[in-house]
Amino acid sequence: MKNSDNKFSVSAIKNGLRSGSFSAVEIAEEYFERIDKKDKDIHAYLRLNKKGALEAAAWVDSRLKAGEALPDLAGVPIALKDVILSEGLPCTASSKILENYLASYDATVVKKLKEQGAVILGKTNTDEFAMGSSTETSAFGPTKNPHDLERVAGGSSGGSAAAVAAGMTVLALGSDTGGSIRQPAGFCGAVGFKPTYGAVSRFGLIAMSSSLDQIGPFASSVEDAETLFDAIKGEDSRDATSFDLPDRMIWQKEDLKRITVGLPKEYLEGGLSKEVGAAMEKAIRNFEDLGVIFKEISLPHTRYALSCYYIIMPAEASTNLSRYDGIRYGRPEGAKNLLEIYEKTKGEGFGEEVKRRILLGTFVLSSGYYDAYYAKAQRVRRLIRQDFEKAFDKDTNGVDAVLAPVSPSTAFKIGEKTQSPMEMYLSDVFTIPANLAGIPALAVPVKDHEGDLPVGFQLMAKWGDDKNLFALGKSYEEA
Ligand code: GLN
Repeated sequence: MKNSDNKFSVSAIKNGLRSGSFSAVEIAEEYFERIDKKDKDIHAYLRLNKKGALEAAAWVDSRLKAGEALPDLAGVPIALKDVILSEGLPCTASSKILENYLASYDATVVKKLKEQGAVILGKTNTDEFAMGSSTETSAFGPTKNPHDLERVAGGSSGGSAAAVAAGMTVLALGSDTGGSIRQPAGFCGAVGFKPTYGAVSRFGLIAMSSSLDQIGPFASSVEDAETLFDAIKGEDSRDATSFDLPDRMIWQKEDLKRITVGLPKEYLEGGLSKEVGAAMEKAIRNFEDLGVIFKEISLPHTRYALSCYYIIMPAEASTNLSRYDGIRYGRPEGAKNLLEIYEKTKGEGFGEEVKRRILLGTFVLSSGYYDAYYAKAQRVRRLIRQDFEKAFDKDTNGVDAVLAPVSPSTAFKIGEKTQSPMEMYLSDVFTIPANLAGIPALAVPVKDHEGDLPVGFQLMAKWGDDKNLFALGKSYEEA
């Protein structure tokens, strides 16, 4: 029923509910007990949804009693990163500016989860407005890594990753703009997936950088991450960039022997910690045992990705954040005129990292600098996307997928990088290119590597090949 870490899988819950081994209410209660016990130390959750969760679970139980067939996620506990709107629950983006904001509608992904009977346990901690790599920019304090409480859980979706890794939920949703699902998944030893841009609706996601943001799943196995992805994906009339994934042949076990996976030399040469380097070699050997053929490839514009991201992302973020003007959101007390309302709302409501990015973004968009920075970054973004297109081009003997580390090192100590924004930004060098290119990327923990802290690898594939990544990830897990 539960695996060795005391974790329920989605199918274990499904089978247990149908066979009557437990009820959905019992499962929800069990998870709230675990949260009660563990979350004082970890701080994955900002807010629990006990009443709503128990009601949803009771509804599932009543359907079961009535003998109705239920969808896969019925009765399955799930946590939501606190940038995803769920009607009636607070949604703070870990920012003081939204401390009192209650969501007035459901994000499309939440609506879909509710229709599936999933049980929403609560809202999880994140870096403020998803800006950061460690949850340390949260206005409500950092999330700790369940494997070592002195270390960060990663970010920005650190709360969701830690909640899954510590068995305080079965599934979770996060958002990934530059790595915020994959990096915390890697640091905490969970599976995390950034879908092809547009495969999942962003309606009801508090926007950070609209051309990069994607909502995606966290789980303890690739199979469960795929089940959650299947439940939330699809075109949505409320997000014009969303679409239905194209139908493609999905790789079967026997196909693995024909698959070539690229190892980008830019990701592997230098810069990796010893532990990550050794774990990557281990993962490569495991894949070779499955029959996968590796080939060195080059993604030459990788070295510009971080600079390009730190122009495009702040440009879009500063535009998105201009809506927090103190009129519709934020409640400045004692402000006497419009200017004071602005000053108080933004001055007191936003943390340092958010202000830094608003300043950066406003600068790169300002007249006189727009062409030199923003327009140029857009051109570099195209080159980065073309690197991947070339690598995956079958006409020129391209590869089927790309394997790379998620991060250059394992989880760092709390406080270690807070004084140097640049060092913090560098921890995302390997995750950012997939966002700029819009391609899918799946982070999976390396099995049985040496060392106490988890290490993640990521598989990237061409635009729209999301389901193939799950096929590849599952065979690694099963091998
Ligand atoms: N860590 C990156 C940043 O700070 C990515 C954030 C994200 O993906 N939301 O921008």
